[in-house]
Amino acid sequence: MPETCKPARHVCLAYATTKDVRQTLLAQTWREPRSFTTRYATLFAGLSTQERSTRLRRVAAALTHPAIPEVERHHLYVTMHHGHWQGGIKLRDRGDQRLCATCLRAGDSQEDTAVHVAHGCPTARAVWAAVARTWQEATSEPLDVTDPTLTVLGLRPRQPSGGDSRAEARHRAREPAWRLLHAVTLLKLHQARTRAHMAYHDPKGPREPRQAKPKHILRAIRQRCARMVCYEHAKAVHSTQAEPRAGPRQGAWHTFHKHWLATGVASMAKGGRPRLHLLAAAPPVSHAAPGSTHIRVGAALTPAKGKRPTASAWALEAHDVGPDGEMTERLRASGAIATAATHPAHGQATVAKRHTWQVAMQVAADRALLYAAQLRRKGRRVTISLPSATTARDLQPARPGEARPRTSHRDIASNNSRKLQLLGTQVTINVDTAVTPQRLQHAAGAAAHSGDIRMQVSVPGRAMHAIPFSQQA
Ligand SMILES: [Zn+2]
Repeated sequence: MPETCKPARHVCLAYATTKDVRQTLLAQTWREPRSFTTRYATLFAGLSTQERSTRLRRVAAALTHPAIPEVERHHLYVTMHHGHWQGGIKLRDRGDQRLCATCLRAGDSQEDTAVHVAHGCPTARAVWAAVARTWQEATSEPLDVTDPTLTVLGLRPRQPSGGDSRAEARHRAREPAWRLLHAVTLLKLHQARTRAHMAYHDPKGPREPRQAKPKHILRAIRQRCARMVCYEHAKAVHSTQAEPRAGPRQGAWHTFHKHWLATGVASMAKGGRPRLHLLAAAPPVSHAAPGSTHIRVGAALTPAKGKRPTASAWALEAHDVGPDGEMTERLRASGAIATAATHPAHGQATVAKRHTWQVAMQVAADRALLYAAQLRRKGRRVTISLPSATTARDLQPARPGEARPRTSHRDIASNNSRKLQLLGTQVTINVDTAVTPQRLQHAAGAAAHSGDIRMQVSVPGRAMHAIPFSQQA
């Protein structure tokens, strides 16, 4: 089978199927799409032959990704082969029709190429900036939208791995969501461009284009993506009900969870419908008052698996809240939790008999209170957001006559409750059951995985350092 953008390979004739014959015949007439040596030549400049065919292969794989709806896929095919009826070559003799109508309205003449519509136009740049922001908020993955390889071809840079297979797996799990978001964004940008173009060249005189501003495009993207996530959810629910029971860590629901929920792109809302976190209408509200410090905590509990015992960990992040509500990072910290069940040799460093979710939450609350006490000495007001109402309730002093059940976390909770009362009104507790930020969740998960019970502290602009347990108290 001759070389295409995939390397050449041999087919054993004894086992050849119709598919092999068809693919061999197709490969013989394969030509590289003309657009990649003309219009998109700059996106392939400076690559070796091997890198070039890798990139072509990734573009081809992106086109056929199952997360992309058919309408968007068709548009993506046309865009990649540069077949849109626009720009200087297709509209050579039609005056200023070859120019970008949006830029013309602003008094700028720019040729209306596919790269301009999808990347260079001020409208496109505003849309991509918002898309990158919401993507980073939801998934904690930064995107460089100044690179047309990302915006036009839709290729995210490979994960700078450093051998971290879990980070690589998370990067891979985000691919369906990214494919959907990218394909939808390209189509909505193109539709807005066409509306602007038609309005500008309306024979009845230039008119105001409708729904062509970045905010309209972003709303259309959000609505489309939200519908597709609902569709993926319905598909997963249907497969779970209609197909034979899948084993652990497989099956439609597991895949849906891995691609859409665990990535932070969506979550399940009340009523069992998925809620999209991309370009959400309102930004998450901060309950912290301006001028104070907001501490969020998270915890992770990984069940025993094979020879690995149960593990749990805590993580926190602290942000200073500015006068107009913007957040500046102050510190983030995490650490694994030692319990008598798994760390019998650690003596007084163990916090409870065994690992439970509430033990982990209480340890996280304890570390947050420790840091809050430091901040209070500096005269700052502090708000601590806990993701669990139970944890917040256990931090309140017991009412007279109220008997708390003998749970694993009772001792540590009553310690925390005393500490909280000593801190007085400068420190407030707040329950925020919205989804824990991905960065926090990953930090707690990584700490549980590493099992390092020292406190890992990182302050922006300084290197991460570890504090052994003895100095924490
Ligand atoms: Zn433009």
